[in-house]
Amino acid sequence: MARVVQKFGGSSVADAESVKRVAKRIATTKRAGHEVVVVVSAMGDTTDDLLDLATQVTDDAPKREMDILLTAGERISMSLLAMALTAEGVSARSYTGQQAGLVTDINHGRASIVKLAPERILRSIEADQVAIVAGFQGVNENNDVTTLGRGGSDTTAVALAAALKADVCEIYSDVDGLFSADPRIVPKAKKIPRISFEETLELASHGAKILHLRAVEFARRYDVPLHVRSSFSTLEGTLVTSESQKGTDMEDPIISGIAHDRSQSKITLVDVPDIPGSAARLFGVVAAADANIDMIVQNVSTQNTGATDISFTLPTDQVAPTRRALEAARDELGYAELRADEEVGLLSLVGAGMRSNPGVSARLFSALWEAGINIEMISTSEIRISVVTRIEDLDTAVRAVHTAFELDAEDSEAVVYGGTGR
Ligand code: ASP
Ligand code: MG
Repeated sequence: MARVVQKFGGSSVADAESVKRVAKRIATTKRAGHEVVVVVSAMGDTTDDLLDLATQVTDDAPKREMDILLTAGERISMSLLAMALTAEGVSARSYTGQQAGLVTDINHGRASIVKLAPERILRSIEADQVAIVAGFQGVNENNDVTTLGRGGSDTTAVALAAALKADVCEIYSDVDGLFSADPRIVPKAKKIPRISFEETLELASHGAKILHLRAVEFARRYDVPLHVRSSFSTLEGTLVTSESQKGTDMEDPIISGIAHDRSQSKITLVDVPDIPGSAARLFGVVAAADANIDMIVQNVSTQNTGATDISFTLPTDQVAPTRRALEAARDELGYAELRADEEVGLLSLVGAGMRSNPGVSARLFSALWEAGINIEMISTSEIRISVVTRIEDLDTAVRAVHTAFELDAEDSEAVVYGGTGR
């Protein structure tokens, strides 16, 4: 007997039929003798529809009211699922985030979990019931309802799995697992059977829309194994675990996957004075503008001008405020010119095998060279190499690198059943 947390995304419970189908699946696990706790997202596009409704009423909705509104989506799906399970002959109870004991900080719209005391869920388990918990929501110390940010149901599920010491947290969506690249760009992308938390974090934070980043961080911190799979098939999905549990197989590829990101831009400051404190002042201004910097490249000052160029990447929607802040501080920073470039793409190659295999960067750069693609910036971590290219070259780059690292499957393996990818 195992204790399992099963999370179903919006595409798995898009309509009444899907709710019944998911209930059957949960019932099968329950009847096999396992303890099952379910976390559910809002049906289909409900959250987007609710957001849309709010903007039709006002363009300045109070955050507190917005949170109450959005949590309605998950309450609809949780109660319907409890009804469907009861109709299946399985005893079930649904709980809001608050009832489940999920306490957050006061940040409406993007709250962080501060405490999870799932007493009522434990009582349900003891009473042999399937507990169904509304994802993405909690309550703050003032007893106001909060939400965890878009896609937050994954985080609810992992947090619950950690608090309940579950054996596994199964994340169900409409794709069969994590793939070596986005199958819409690389039709020959392969399903990854096993991957570590660290690799998954690198992929998720570099554009792969696979799992809520915070959910993976949580899973790593509390060592909760994740099984990412489809609710539309019975195929095994992808197991995300710690590296030691993942084990090392001689046949493991060096590279687990390739992420790409079109949402980044590049800012270059030309002729920044090459003196101590220059970078500190510059990135102080950038930090005060709340920009999330990823890569930074500083050139060596060659011509004895005492000046150098500094480039960095940041999300495109943060370019305007960052640019304003840097322009306002131009005299203090002493640079000659600011260039913002939104037409860049980011490719990231991720794999724990990089640690023990030299030559990965050379192979990456050769693949891009053969494809005639220019590299504008490079950054690395222990298990990742990222490059910036022209945005129009990005798809070609991803395919070329996928082939160069022998990740191509014989036939295309990826099927998106529901259509949303979640
Ligand atoms: N329903 C919320 C959203 O669409 C939370 C989730 O699906 O995880 O963002
Ligand atoms: Mg959703």
